[in-house]
Amino acid sequence: MNRRNFLAATGVASLAVASGVTSCAPRPRLATTRTYSVPKLKLSLDRIVKETVGLRPFRASGPRIAREELGSKTLVHNYGHGGSGWSLSWGTGNLAREMVLATGERKVAVLGCGTVGLATARLLQERGLEVTIYTKDLPPNITSSVATGTWSPASRVCDPTKATPEFRQQWEQATRFSFRTFQFLLGMNDIAAWVDEYNVYKTRPTGQPDIGQGGEVYHLDGLLPERQELSAKQHPFGAAYVTWRSNMMFNIPSYLHHQMSTFVMLGGRILIREIKKLEDIDALPERCVVNCMGLGAKAVFNDEELTPVSGQLACLIPQPEVTYKLNAQGASVIARKDGIYLGGNGLVGNWDTTPKREYTEQFVERIQQVMNEMTD
Ligand SMILES: Cc1cc2nc3c(=O)[nH]c(=O)nc-3n(C[C@H](O)[C@H](O)[C@H](O)COP(=O)(O)OP(=O)(O)OC[C@H]3O[C@@H](n4cnc5c(N)ncnc54)[C@H](O)[C@@H]3O)c2cc1C
Repeated sequence: MNRRNFLAATGVASLAVASGVTSCAPRPRLATTRTYSVPKLKLSLDRIVKETVGLRPFRASGPRIAREELGSKTLVHNYGHGGSGWSLSWGTGNLAREMVLATGERKVAVLGCGTVGLATARLLQERGLEVTIYTKDLPPNITSSVATGTWSPASRVCDPTKATPEFRQQWEQATRFSFRTFQFLLGMNDIAAWVDEYNVYKTRPTGQPDIGQGGEVYHLDGLLPERQELSAKQHPFGAAYVTWRSNMMFNIPSYLHHQMSTFVMLGGRILIREIKKLEDIDALPERCVVNCMGLGAKAVFNDEELTPVSGQLACLIPQPEVTYKLNAQGASVIARKDGIYLGGNGLVGNWDTTPKREYTEQFVERIQQVMNEMTD
C-alpha cells in the first residue's frame, strides 16, 4: 500500500482535508512563458568552509504545545518542532502566548534561546509581559543555528498516522500565523527573503507528486504560490521534470541576532542557566514558565516520544549571483547571505553531531551532476 492509500485507508487524509489542511500538494500547474536563468554553482570540496550536524527535535504526534501545572508553577510547553521550527516559531509561540495570558501572570520565564524561545519571548513582550530567558547555550551553539532556514512548516513535523486532530488544528493555526508574521520581516535587514525554488527530477514522477523532498506531510493552500511545472525551453536543467515556485528563506545568523537584540532592547533578560531537573524550574522566581528547550526537554520532562533526526549541512563560500534553492536527487542547495548550504539527509534516532565527510561528498556529487547536465 503506498503512502497515499495508507492515509486514505486510515482516514487521515479526509480528516486533514476537513480542517483545511491537505496531505498532498496540488499537481503543479503549467507555467507561463517566462524563462529562468540559473547561475551554476562552483562546487568543490575545497570551497566547503563548514560542516555541521543538527538534531531536529522530532515527535511523532507533533510538537507539544500544552499547559501543565507543576506544583506552584504553570508550565507551557512549546517544543518538538522537528524540521519545521524556524517556520512554525511565531505560530506556536502565539499558541503558547494565549496559554500564558490565560494565567494572568505578568512575569514569565522562557527556557531556551533558540528560534522558538526567542519568537515566544518576543510575542510575550508585545503584550507587555516581563520576560527572562534562561538558557544553557546561545547561538551559534544551538540547533536553530545549524538549520537550513527555509519556509517548510510541514517538514518532519510529525508522523501523519500518529498526529492527533488537535495537532492538525494547531498546525494550521500556527502555520497561518507564522506566514503572516514573516511577511512583516521580509525586507527588514535581509533577515528573511523570497527566493526561487527549483525541484529537479531525472524522470517525471508518476502519481501525485509529494509536497517536497524534506518529508513534508501537510500542505495549506493559499500561502506560498503553488509550484509550476516548467517546459524544457524555460529552464537550463537537463532533466525530465522541473518545477519552480517562490519560497521564503531565513538568513539564520542575522535573524537570530536581530531577535536577541530586539528582545534585550525591549527590556528582556537572557541568563545562562542549565535546567537539569524539575526542581530547577521550581526554583525560578517566575510562576509561569514556557518550555522552549527543543531536544533538551527530553531529559528534563522524560519525554520518550522526543527523538533526534540528525541533518548534516555543508557550507560553500557564497557566490553573490547564486540566490536560489534547489532540490534534486535527495540533496538540496540553499543560498543564504552567509554561505551556500548543501544538505538533505535525516537520520532518525542519531545523536552523533560529528560531521561525516562521506555525506558532504554525496551532496557535492549529486548537485555536481545536476550542474554538469545544465546548458550554459
Ligand atoms: C539540518 C537541519 C535543517 C533544518 N532546516 C529547517 C528549515 O529549513 N526550516 C525550518 O523551519 N526548520 C528547519 N529545521 C528545524 C529547526 O532548526 C528546529 O525545529 C528548530 O531549530 C528548533 O528550535 P528550538 O528553539 O525549539 O530548539 P533549539 O534551537 O535547540 O533551542 C533550544 C534552546 O534550549 C536550550 N536548552 C536546551 N536544553 C536546556 C536545558 N537543559 N537547560 C536550559 N536550556 C536548555 C538550548 O541551549 C537552546 O537555547 C532544521 C533543522 C536541522 C537540524
